[in-house]
Amino acid sequence: MLGVVKSKPEIGIEIREVLEPDHLKKNQVLIEVKACGVCGSDLHIYQWEPFIQWIKLPRVLGHEVAGTVCKVGAEVKEFELGDRIVADTWGGCGDCYYCRLGKFNLCMYQTRLGQHVDGGMAKYVIVPKNSLYKIPEQIGFQEASAIEPLGVILRTFERCDLKPGDDIAIIGPGPIGLFGVMLAKASGAAKIIVCGLNEDRDRLKLAEKFGAIPVNVAEESPKEKVFDLTEGKGADIVMDVSGGKGSLTEAVKIAKPGGQIGLVGIGPESVFAPNIVVDKELSIHGSFRRQPSTWFRAIKLVANKVIDTREIITHALPLTKAEEAFQILMRKEGIKVILLP
Ligand SMILES: [Zn+2]
Ligand SMILES: [Zn+2]
Repeated sequence: MLGVVKSKPEIGIEIREVLEPDHLKKNQVLIEVKACGVCGSDLHIYQWEPFIQWIKLPRVLGHEVAGTVCKVGAEVKEFELGDRIVADTWGGCGDCYYCRLGKFNLCMYQTRLGQHVDGGMAKYVIVPKNSLYKIPEQIGFQEASAIEPLGVILRTFERCDLKPGDDIAIIGPGPIGLFGVMLAKASGAAKIIVCGLNEDRDRLKLAEKFGAIPVNVAEESPKEKVFDLTEGKGADIVMDVSGGKGSLTEAVKIAKPGGQIGLVGIGPESVFAPNIVVDKELSIHGSFRRQPSTWFRAIKLVANKVIDTREIITHALPLTKAEEAFQILMRKEGIKVILLP
C-alpha cells in the first residue's frame, strides 16, 4: 500500500510503498482509513524541527484518522467489522497510574499514532481499541477526520469554565482557533475576539464569518482592542492556541482580573513575568490533547450539526498528492487539508 513516510532525518516526506500491517495484538484493531487530516504537528515533522527529532524513522505519518474497522484482535469485543470510527492519537494504556485516575491524556506510556508508531496516511493502520470511538452514519468520513483537532480546543473548553455571556479572546486563528470560535458561539459567548498575524488575514476573515471580531496584531494592539470591546475590563477567558513566542504574556495582559487562561498552543521558551497573574488572580489551565469525555462531546456536536467541521476543510486530496497537501498548508493557503487514501 502507499504511505506518506518520513524516512530521512531532513526536511520533506516521501510517498512510497509500505508493508500492509497484518499482525494484530489482542487489544488492537485494523482500520481501513477513509480520510486522514494533515495536522500542524505533521508539518513540524515534515520540517524535521529539533523538538520532534526523537521520532524513529522511517515512520508513516498521520493521526487524524477516520475509517472503518476491518479486523479486530482476539480480545476486542467493543468493535466489529464495518464499524465507522475516529481514532485518538493515543487513548491511554488503561492501566498506568494516570489512566487509573481517568487522566488518559496524561498516560505514562504515550504511543502516539504517526509518531511512536505508524499512522493513518496509508490505506490501513493499526489502532489500539482504547483509542477508538464509533461515529454514527450521519457523519461523513472527511468531516469525522477533523473531530480530532476539534477535540483539542474542546478540551480547553472543558478545562476553562465558560458561561453564556462571557467574553472570550482567542489568540491564533488556525483550524483549532477557528473551531474555538465555533464552540464559543455555540456556548453563548458575548464577545468573541480573535487575534492573528498579518499572514493570517484569510483566517481572520473566516473567524469573522463564524461570529468573531478579528484583530490583526500588525495593525492593532490586542490589549487596546480587547479593552475597548469589554468596557475596559478584559476578556473573561483567553485561549492561547497560537504557540507563538510571548503569546502567553499577551494572554495575561488581555484577560480580565479574576479571568482564566486556557493554554493549548505549544510555544518556545520565553521570558514570562508572573506578577500579572498574581495581581489579577488569573487561573491558567494547561490543556493537552483530549479525554474520552472530549471525544463523546465532540462526536455529538458534529452529529447534531452544532459544529460543522466541513466549514474549515478547504482541500481533500488523494494520498498521492500528499506533498502538495503539505505545501498548501505551509504556504497557509488552506485551513484544513484532508488526505484520501
Ligand atoms: Zn492533530
Ligand atoms: Zn496509561
